[in-house]
This record gives sequence, structure tokens and C-alpha cells, in this order.
Amino acid sequence: MNWITNSVLPKIQALVRREVPDNLWHKCVACGQMIFHRDLEQNLHVCPECGHHLRIGPIERLKMVFDEGKYDTIQLPKPALDPLKFRDQKRYTDRLREAQTKTGRNDAMVVAHGTIGGVPAVAAVFDFGFMGGSMGTGVGDALVRAAKLAETQNAALLVFPSSGGARMQEGILSLMQMPRTVAAVDRIKERGLPFIVILTDPTTGGVTASFAMLGDIHLAEPGSIIGFAGQRVIQETIREQLPDGFQRAEYLLEHGMVDAVVHRKDLKATLGRILALLLRPRPTAQIVALPQPDVEIPGKAPATKDDGKSTNHVADTRTPAGESD
Ligand SMILES: [Zn+2]
Repeated sequence: MNWITNSVLPKIQALVRREVPDNLWHKCVACGQMIFHRDLEQNLHVCPECGHHLRIGPIERLKMVFDEGKYDTIQLPKPALDPLKFRDQKRYTDRLREAQTKTGRNDAMVVAHGTIGGVPAVAAVFDFGFMGGSMGTGVGDALVRAAKLAETQNAALLVFPSSGGARMQEGILSLMQMPRTVAAVDRIKERGLPFIVILTDPTTGGVTASFAMLGDIHLAEPGSIIGFAGQRVIQETIREQLPDGFQRAEYLLEHGMVDAVVHRKDLKATLGRILALLLRPRPTAQIVALPQPDVEIPGKAPATKDDGKSTNHVADTRTPAGESD
């Protein structure tokens, strides 16, 4: 009988038994509804019952925004391992390694490039699953690289923050990433390229206090928490009850901190439209009539006559605006 129990039975069991993963159903954190994983994926991780936008990882995000879900990620440098030899309940080195094993990433940011609505774009996406998306030197490095890539490609820079703020285990070095990232996005602006921030749940602390609030355009996902200090901390400090919906995307929209609150299903189209407007200043339709060469543009200064070096005299033969024959 031993050979039956030891050899035959496991084989039959292996044939009959089907693996049932334990993550087929997800519970909505807002309304408690159980949602089948395939429905959730189809619905872009938005609860079909209450419309709550669940947190998503960087890969889902990238697939969602780039054309046909196609993009290329860039290699990011490994962050300096525990520069301050920091230790709380655990050593920072151990925390970092755990997060790296769990996520398969060097740090809490993924940088990718591709096109959105046919317009080139570079996206830097936070991974909240990596130590709460906290910003240390690794994230600083990643954002600087993203900005440089956008500059090289003449592309728009998009950032999707989802972060608890600065990484306290890196102390002053994490705070130094605030001016560093601000300088990086400033270069993008100097080049005249668009910098668009898509605020997702949650955007807090040092990330809010630096580049995340400096976008040319701020979009936000519905219901996202966006703020610097937490609501409870503020309430305890000022000893006052805060209004309903405080620090939520909709509240920030009402108070002029956010340009639009966009549902996840509309995000790609909205981004495509914005990028087309900002980076494609030529008309999308065919031009049917050529502009008349002799039409004077009112208010336009005549071409410089005093410029002795100029060899192009075409402009001089025209009647300057404002003078009549
Ligand atoms: Zn729900």
C-alpha cells in the first residue's frame, strides 16, 4: 500500500487539484464591496460600486497612459546603501533589501518613455509599495534622469507621485532631494517643455513640498489625499475641526491648487489632448489656402532697417505698418 500513498496518490492529486490563488477577490477599501480581480482590472482598478480609485503599481499605470500600453523603461542607478547607517526597529539596509526583493526594483521610482496620443513623453512613476513611495537619493537620481531624458528627447515630463514624503532613514540626504528635484524640473521649464504632474493617492510630505506642486498643469485622481502634514497632525496643532473632504483632490480643485480632477478612464485621453496642445503648435487639419504674402499684420513692428549687417532686403520694400502712401 505504501507505493500507492507515496507515489500514485500524489500524482492523482496533482492532476485533480487546481491551484486556487488567494488573491482572486479584492475588497474595496472605501465601500467594502468584494470585486473579482478580472472585473477590477477591466475597470482600471476603480471600484465599480462606489468609484473609489484603488492604488495601483507603476507598471499598471504606465500601461494605462502610453499608446497601446507600449513603453520602454530606463535603467536606474542602485541607490547608495544606507549612507547614515540608520537603524530604527530594523536596519535601513535590511528594509531597503526587503523592499527591493518584494518589488524587484532598486528604489521607489520607475522611469519610462514612449508616446501619448502620438506625442513623445517621459513618465516618472512612484511605487507606493516600495517603502511608502518615500523619496531618498534613489528617487532623486531617478527624477533627475527622467528630466534629462525628456530634455534629450524634446519630450514632455510627466510625474505620477504616490508618496508618503521624504525617506526619514536617509535624514538630511533625503531632504536634499527636494531642491535637487526642483532644479531638475526647472531645467525642463527653461527648455520650454511641459511638466505635468498627475497627483495620485497619496501625495504628501516632502514630495508635495517640492516638485509635485510645480507642474505647469496639475491633474489629480478623484479622492486622492494631497497635502503636506496629515489631517490629524494639523487638527491637533491648530485645535480646530477641519472641513469635510480636507486635503482631497476635489477640495484642492475648489481652492485652485489642482487644474482638473480626472477619472482614471479619461486620464490617457486628457493627457493626449494636453500634450498635443502644448507640444504640437501646428494645426492638425490640412491648410487649404496659403496666407497672402502682402497682408500686413496690425501692430507688428516693421523689419529692422537700421541693421547694417542684414543682407535680406525683402522686408524693406514693404510699406511699414501704420504708414500710408
Ligand atoms: Zn467601493
